[in-house]
Amino acid sequence: MDHFPRIGLGWDRHRLQSGRPCWLAGVEIPSPVGPSGHSDGDVLLHALTDAVLGAAGLDDLGTLFPDTDPQWAGASSTMFLEAALRRCHNRGWKVASADLVLVCDRPKISPFRGAMRKRLSQLLQLAEDRVNLKGKTTEGANSEYMEAQAVVLLIREMPAQASG
Ligand code: MG
Repeated sequence: MDHFPRIGLGWDRHRLQSGRPCWLAGVEIPSPVGPSGHSDGDVLLHALTDAVLGAAGLDDLGTLFPDTDPQWAGASSTMFLEAALRRCHNRGWKVASADLVLVCDRPKISPFRGAMRKRLSQLLQLAEDRVNLKGKTTEGANSEYMEAQAVVLLIREMPAQASG
């Protein structure tokens, strides 16, 4: 078993659709438009989940949870991330840090950035200073889509200390 840390990269993009709930990082943002998709369309969690899976050398999100499978219709993407984290944990890895970028012209996400960062830190079970989230706009060039990128660093879990 090697002990070198591993980095993973994830990317996702979803089209914006009127009347869809706008779930981002497991937080529902008030918005007239939301990301379309088979699941809840949470681009941040999809990118993050793929980064986790990629770093651990596992199959990607679309392979593990295909969008042709009716059981994932409307699914909360927190479940995808939790499943990826379990697979990582089972292989002796844990997330040490994560950094995400959300590219989004609408809705305005800056008022919700703190809540999203906090939710990400809860889902990853990390201190907030080990999880970051930046919002970017394309100044109207990409107002039909919402896009996210994520990197994570995996480190080996410390073996449990024998007591006594
Ligand atoms: Mg997706």
